[in-house]
Amino acid sequence: MSLFDWFANRQKSEPVTQKRQEREIADGLWSKCEACGVLAYTKDLQANQMVCSECNHHLRVDSDERIRQLIDAKTWKPLNEEISPIDPLSFKDRKAYKDRLSDYQQKTGLTDAVQTGTGLLDGLPVALGVMDFRFMGGSMGSVVGEKLCRLIEYGTQEGLPVVIICASGGARMQEGMLSLMQMAKISGALEHHRREKLLYIPVLTHPTTGGVTASFAMLGDFILAEPKATIGFAGRRVIEQTLREKLPDDFQSAEYLLKYGFVDAIVPRTQLKATLAQLISLHQLSPIAPGHHHNGDRVHYQHHNEPKKIHRDAMQVLEETD
Ligand SMILES: [Zn+2]
Repeated sequence: MSLFDWFANRQKSEPVTQKRQEREIADGLWSKCEACGVLAYTKDLQANQMVCSECNHHLRVDSDERIRQLIDAKTWKPLNEEISPIDPLSFKDRKAYKDRLSDYQQKTGLTDAVQTGTGLLDGLPVALGVMDFRFMGGSMGSVVGEKLCRLIEYGTQEGLPVVIICASGGARMQEGMLSLMQMAKISGALEHHRREKLLYIPVLTHPTTGGVTASFAMLGDFILAEPKATIGFAGRRVIEQTLREKLPDDFQSAEYLLKYGFVDAIVPRTQLKATLAQLISLHQLSPIAPGHHHNGDRVHYQHHNEPKKIHRDAMQVLEETD
């Protein structure tokens, strides 16, 4: 029996005192599943990609953890890290937007609610955007919009598939119209990407709502979702009050959306990387993918990714570390 097993068994047979438990949760040694309440050793939970092994609940993961889960080690290259938000409207609610921003920047170590970059996913080059719900609820302001837009444009220019992990409460009201216009801006960039016959896959995680759902979250070639994720535009209460109708209990869940065709597949997090790799490989083999040449009526199947610069860089890193 490993020391960890022994510790886990001891944990089961002799429940720790409330105080000690709270202290260890605060230290990050143990994590409590918010769905079933079972305590799990944080390292075990991380090894299972933050999915509870008792009840299969998908706990929230931040953008750093998500990048570790999806991108091959040492191949991640962040893009546009220097872009940071300003307060164009001098907005103030209970707190000045300026102060709110610097609080979240300190708390998360991020400049805003998205990380973008390139890397290898099971050896396949991708452009990846990962929203971070910890930063003002993953709300989409000018920086989120600009970084995603530049990521997609980079993907178009370099012939890369784009994957965006969505997690958002919607548009960022503190930036007013400037935040709303990001929806159209990102959708426009995606259209250029699409015209080059490149692949775009949004992954909807809990929660994906508001302006994100109303734009790039729903514009994918394949739309994937995590189990039980809340996905919607307006909140349940707003819709019920507007329609004066009671909505079904599972309304706005990934499963409900799958049933009605808004989502193409629900993929458990532990299978996400393999699924994305499979979809990207299949797309590269398809005759419509860029780089395929018709020779008479014969189609040559080949990988369309000429070793462009990013790919070469990433491969070089891999070779150096081998
Ligand atoms: Zn659980």
